[in-house]
Amino acid sequence: MAKVKETTLELDLNALTHNYHYLRSKLRPETKFLSVVKAFAYGSDAQIIANKLQELGTDYFAVAYTNEGVALRDAGITKPILVLHPQEISFDTIIERCLEPSIYSKHILGAFLKTAKKHGQNQYPVHLKFNTGLNRLGFSIEDIEHIATTLNTNSEIKSVSLFSHLAASEDDNEKEFTEQQISLFHTIAEQLDAQLNYKPFRHLLNTSGILNYSNAQYDMVRSGIGIYGYGNEAKIDKELKPVASLKTIISQIHHLKPNESVGYNRGFTSQDAKISATLPLGHADGIGRQYGNGKTVVSINGKKAPIIGNVCMDMIMVDITDISCKEGDEVLVFGPELSAQAFAETANTISYELLTGISQRVKRDVIS
Ligand SMILES: *Cc1c(COP(=O)(O)O)cnc(C)c1O
Repeated sequence: MAKVKETTLELDLNALTHNYHYLRSKLRPETKFLSVVKAFAYGSDAQIIANKLQELGTDYFAVAYTNEGVALRDAGITKPILVLHPQEISFDTIIERCLEPSIYSKHILGAFLKTAKKHGQNQYPVHLKFNTGLNRLGFSIEDIEHIATTLNTNSEIKSVSLFSHLAASEDDNEKEFTEQQISLFHTIAEQLDAQLNYKPFRHLLNTSGILNYSNAQYDMVRSGIGIYGYGNEAKIDKELKPVASLKTIISQIHHLKPNESVGYNRGFTSQDAKISATLPLGHADGIGRQYGNGKTVVSINGKKAPIIGNVCMDMIMVDITDISCKEGDEVLVFGPELSAQAFAETANTISYELLTGISQRVKRDVIS
């Protein structure tokens, strides 16, 4: 692999392929697979990732917001795209770009139906989202009659699927709660089927759901973090391959005299002589201030270099006193050898936040 010459997020499409096949291997062959590519495909590059997943045969895509779906259509994605959290203002765009909204409240149902009528639609595909305990988005079981009546008397829209979202599928201590969510989802689905003139397909599981509750895979699963190579569990992480590697280089090396300080507000001082390296990567690139002041390490020539002092907007400084390296050398921030999950944990957060926070100004490079 060529050494990077600037801060770069490398995207390994072979790793993506591996993860996709691994997750699919946990499912019945007929179960559909929805790839979640919201937030720039978890901070990587939605267009590149979605095109590869489309080639691999994913059945569906999901994004959070309408503009993310539009970007996928512009990038040549032809598979169905579920918009998980659309707002009323984007309903015209949803129909114009053949996106499929999640319908999560009576208000949204009425408003989307109105838009579908205005556009002269017949059986426009929508997806009914039910709340089974996450208490975030979704209809409640009491809304079924209203939904069924609305759908049975208006042919402009059709609910092709029915879904819900698990709150703690990665947490062994919450098995009982998760089983209750699964059971409530089942009840909702049966009641709705009994009142609707047709049978929407069902989906419930996210990545950890696929790995821990495959008996509840229904007709489709929705995977995000897993396709990017993280499984919320050390055992699973070993089976998956991180897609994104964040790399940078050493811009400058400083030889510090005893008691000299480094960075804003003199965040780092040492009584001993030290050597520091400055890297072109800061909080504006997605490495937040919580990673500063010795908490977190990057890897230089296979050795650990702690981030010292305060993280700046465009730079961090690391301690390389015991590392043999020179200006221009490559630095690994996270990737297969230094997981984003472990990096995130040093600041009490999760891989999802670190990955989705890598800002758009960081160059993306495809490895395949
Ligand atoms: C983000 C999201 C997912 C993906 O979850 P992962 O844990 O990343 O697999 C699935 N379903 C819904 C509704 C989501 O919002």
